[in-house]
Amino acid sequence: MSDTVEKIKCLIIGSGPAGYTAAIYAARANMEPVLYQGQQPGGQLTTTNEVENFPGYPSGITGPAMMVELQQQAERFGTDVRFGWVDHVDFSDPDGGHKVRVDGTKELLCGTVIIATGASAKYLGLESEQKYLEMGGGVSACAVCDGFFYKGQETVIVGAGDSACEEAHYLSKLCTKVTMLVRRDEFRASKIMAQRVKDTENIEILYNTETEEVLGDGAGVTGVRVKNNVTGETSEIPCTGFFVAIGHKPNTDVFAEYIDCHDTGYIKYAEAGTSKTNVDGVFVAGDAADFTYRQAVTAAGTGCMAALDAERYLAAKGH
Ligand code: NDP
Repeated sequence: MSDTVEKIKCLIIGSGPAGYTAAIYAARANMEPVLYQGQQPGGQLTTTNEVENFPGYPSGITGPAMMVELQQQAERFGTDVRFGWVDHVDFSDPDGGHKVRVDGTKELLCGTVIIATGASAKYLGLESEQKYLEMGGGVSACAVCDGFFYKGQETVIVGAGDSACEEAHYLSKLCTKVTMLVRRDEFRASKIMAQRVKDTENIEILYNTETEEVLGDGAGVTGVRVKNNVTGETSEIPCTGFFVAIGHKPNTDVFAEYIDCHDTGYIKYAEAGTSKTNVDGVFVAGDAADFTYRQAVTAAGTGCMAALDAERYLAAKGH
């Protein structure tokens, strides 16, 4: 191993509630944690508006403000928070240390690793959707981030889960009309969230409806061609913004060679009730492993578990 390899006792990958909570516990336990934030510092909550269900904030708090506070709390106890993207790992020799590469160049040798990389928004995968997404021309997976650009305009949103309902409702306050495309004849969302959408005057819900193509003029979105999957009928809906809210994919590809994952990419716990993965000394917290609860508070809880498990692991090794 060359001299340029940095030795780290406890590496935390990811900067959502799971990562920062792990950092708070690890720092207070003198594990000298280094936390790499990834491409979206603060994680998914930075794209959320009001968080009303995290205990301890009786009046609510915005997602970005909460993440700033969590980072400050982690840094207060000495967490080394860095901007960087983990692009390669080698977990083949736990006793020799876990090798991690950041941004293609920086090499780390870690006593223990906590994976808290979360999940990212999914897209439909249509060529036309990707084209306008890449050019920033009217496709988005985050109404809270981008809804403002469509103020006074008409938008379309795909999805029928809680996220889609939340985002449709958010858009309805900015846009003249929101059309919601639901691929089945019912919502997946909780009753209360679905009802709120149904009760909103300027949201039109089209059931059994799938997106065939995102239409545009080369510079931006002008509409969507949709198909009713029961009647086979196609139609066009004019809009300037096309929002996708169809779920998330866990950010675990970089670990897949070494870490056991479900078919969906979510990391498998090696032992129920712990944060252990199949590799000794590598632990997981938050949405990278959680396809059931996916809440900020459960992510924080598993972040705590991962730090405690990592501390015990290091102690057993005499560190
Ligand atoms: P979900 O997986 O719950 O829902 C995804 C939705 O997208 C489903 O309705 C699904 O349809 C639809 N979908 C998937 N693929 C396609 C496609 N190719 N074309 C059209 N539609 C598609 O994801 P969410 O992000 O909504 O929610 C994730 C978790 O987070 C849930 O547990 C949810 O309860 C929670 N959450 C809670 C919130 C809150 O309480 N405030 C807010 C947001 C999320 P189908 O139903 O047919 O499968």
